[in-house]
Amino acid sequence: MNIKIGNKIIDPTKIICLGRNYIDHAKEMKVQVPKNPVFFVKTVNTLVTNGNPIIYPKILYNNQEYNQVDHEVELAFVVSQTCKNIQAEYAYNYIEGYTVFLDITARKMQISDRNVNLPWYRSKNFDSFGPIGPRIAPYSEIEDPHNLNIQLKINGELRQQSNTKHMLFKIPKILAYLSKFITLVSGDIVATGTPSGVASIQPGDIIEASIDQIGAIIHKVILEE
Ligand code: MG
Repeated sequence: MNIKIGNKIIDPTKIICLGRNYIDHAKEMKVQVPKNPVFFVKTVNTLVTNGNPIIYPKILYNNQEYNQVDHEVELAFVVSQTCKNIQAEYAYNYIEGYTVFLDITARKMQISDRNVNLPWYRSKNFDSFGPIGPRIAPYSEIEDPHNLNIQLKINGELRQQSNTKHMLFKIPKILAYLSKFITLVSGDIVATGTPSGVASIQPGDIIEASIDQIGAIIHKVILEE
């Protein structure tokens, strides 16, 4: 699926996300800190670019069992070329650039599924649950992707604030480990996990997510018609 992010068109086949990659977030979710990177997949129907709305699904809003949708701001990188069984020291040869990603999550649904050992799939993959942008900062522009301030505001109020230096697994390790299992191709997106401070969004909210040296995305939350 072609998508234009800033002035660049990419064709991602998948979005791989890390779970529990900031210790403070693992603690707030009351889950164990992992020994190896934890991955799950988001599908490309989730992607929406800067300025487009996040659709709050009716099926969640009208159901007390599921009416909690959370924001998670994350640094993501875009893969530049086919990548399989690579070594960590060469990881940066496979990175096109960096962008801001929101891993929107139907939290009550995720927890209730997790509690009965079901996958996270449905709670993560509603349409528009993957805002991205505002651009892909070229790999060569970002001197150190592990020293970037990252933050998220709702209606101007700060909710998440951290720095990518707190990532548990860093990008070379993530890409080397991931490429042992699957083949990544040009345009694939890898989101590197969220810091603490995740909380709920509501229809009408304005979400602003930003990372130093990359930029900010702004999205309004609207209720599905
Ligand atoms: Mg996440």
